Amino acid sequence: ASHTRTQSNASVPHATKKTMVDHLRKYESLFTLTPQRMRIIVDSFVEVLEIGLKEFGQTVPMIPTYVFGWPTRMENGDFLALDLGGTNLRVCLVHLQGDGRFEITQTKYRLTEEQKQEDGMKLFDFCAECVANFVELHTGEGRGKIKEDEELALGFTFSYPVNQARIDHGELIRWTKGFGAPNTEGKDVAAMFRASMEKYPVLKNVKLTALINDTTGTLIASHYVNPRTKIAVILGTGCNAAYMETVENITKIAPLGIPGEQQMAINCEWGAFDSFQHYHLPRTPYDILVDEQSNKPGEQAFEKLISGRYLGEIFRLVLCELIDAGDLFLGQNTYKLEIPYSFDTAFLSLMESDPTDELLTVIGIFTHFHQIETTLAERQFFRALARLIGRRAARLSACGIAAIVSKCGYLEEGCSVGADGSLYNKYPGFADRIHEGLVDVFGDKGKRIVTHHAEDGSGVGSAIIAAMTKKRKADGLF
Ligand code: BGC
Ligand code: MG
Repeated sequence: ASHTRTQSNASVPHATKKTMVDHLRKYESLFTLTPQRMRIIVDSFVEVLEIGLKEFGQTVPMIPTYVFGWPTRMENGDFLALDLGGTNLRVCLVHLQGDGRFEITQTKYRLTEEQKQEDGMKLFDFCAECVANFVELHTGEGRGKIKEDEELALGFTFSYPVNQARIDHGELIRWTKGFGAPNTEGKDVAAMFRASMEKYPVLKNVKLTALINDTTGTLIASHYVNPRTKIAVILGTGCNAAYMETVENITKIAPLGIPGEQQMAINCEWGAFDSFQHYHLPRTPYDILVDEQSNKPGEQAFEKLISGRYLGEIFRLVLCELIDAGDLFLGQNTYKLEIPYSFDTAFLSLMESDPTDELLTVIGIFTHFHQIETTLAERQFFRALARLIGRRAARLSACGIAAIVSKCGYLEEGCSVGADGSLYNKYPGFADRIHEGLVDVFGDKGKRIVTHHAEDGSGVGSAIIAAMTKKRKADGLF
C-alpha cells in the first residue's frame, strides 16, 4: 500500500499536536539506561556466563574454541585466511615473520542478500570458488607468494555460533545477522566447506586447519600486538565477545581430560543474552517489533539492541510510529521510509556527526534516500533520537564487557579490550560511550578497562591460530 498521509489528520488543530520536543522526552525515558539498571544487567550477565561454562545447551553457549593459550609471537610461515562475516567475504594470504611482524595480501567480495538465503552448499561452494580464484592469482611463475606443491594451512573465520568438538570442526547452532541459508544449521560447516574445496583441483594442497570465530581471532591478534589484551569484542553487523579461560573452570568439558591449568579461549556468543525469555533487558516496543519481524524471532536478543544490523531499523520504526500518529511528514509520500531496513545504521553515524547548524547531512539523507523534506526541528529530533539509540547500544556493550571483567576479576589490575567492527570503528563516540558506561558500572575503577582498536582478527588472527594449531599437531597435542 502507498501511504500519503493527509486528510484525516490534517484537520488536527495545531495547538493540540505534540511537538518534537514532547516526543523526545518519551523516547529519552524509553532508551536511557541508568547506572543502576546497568549494574542489575551486569549481575545477571555474570551468572549467565558462569552457567554457560558448566552446562552445554545454554542460551549463551560459552563455546570452548580449542584455541589453547596466547600466541608466542614466534609463529611463522604462510597461511590462508577465509573470513565469512555478516557483510563481506574476504580471502587473505598472511605471512607471519616469526618476530611479531606480518604481511597480508587480500581480496574482498561482497555477499548478496540472495547468497545469504540460498542453500548452504551453494554458499560454501562460493567461498571455495573465491579461495580458488585467489590461490590461482597468487601461484606460479612471476606471481610468486603461494608455492605449488606445499601444504597450505587455512584458518576459516566463520562468525556464527558453532559447537566445536575440536578446532577443525563445528556444528552450526543457528544462523544470525539475517543469514538463513537452509540445510546448514545442525551441520558441520567445516566438513561442508571441505567438500566444496574438493570441487576445485587448485585447492588440493589447501588444508582447513582451524575453524574460528571472529572474536577468537580478534582476541589472539590483539594480544599478539598488545599483550595487555584480555578480552575481544566485535561491535559490527553482529556483536559478541571472547576471552581466555582456565580449563579447570570450563567444567562441562572435564570428561576430555585436558589439564586443568591450561588456558583456552571461550567464544561467549553473548549476542544471545536474554533470548527467548527476555527477563533481563529493557526492550522498547520498537525492539520487540524488530525482533518479531526478523527471520529469527526470540533469538539474539542482546545483539538486536546493539549491533549495526538493527540500529537503523529501530530508528526507522520510531519514525513510522510518528508518521502513523500523524505527527511527522504530513502530506508527504513516506513509502520509501516504510520499507523495512531502508534506514541504514550508517545514517545514524552520519546524523550524529553532522557539523552544520542547519543539519545539512540530515537533509541530504532524507531528501536523497527517502524523498522526504524535513524541518530543522525535525532534524534536531532525528539527531537526538540517533544519539539515544547509539548511546544505549554502547552502554549495553559496556554491560557485557563489565560482566566478563567481573567474572574474571580483571578490575583490580585493569585490562585492555581489543574491539573491532563497523560500529566501534565508525560510529562517532562509540568508544567514549562504552568507557563512560564502564565508569557508571564500576565507578572510578572502571577507567582501568580500556578498549582499543583491535588488530585484524579474521585475517591475521586466523593465520596465527592456524599456525598455533599446526604446531600443536606437530607436537602431538590435542
Ligand atoms: C555471531 C557471532 C559473531 C558476531 C560478530 C554474531 O551474530 O553470532 O558468532 O562473533 O555476530 O560478528
Ligand atoms: Mg567481520
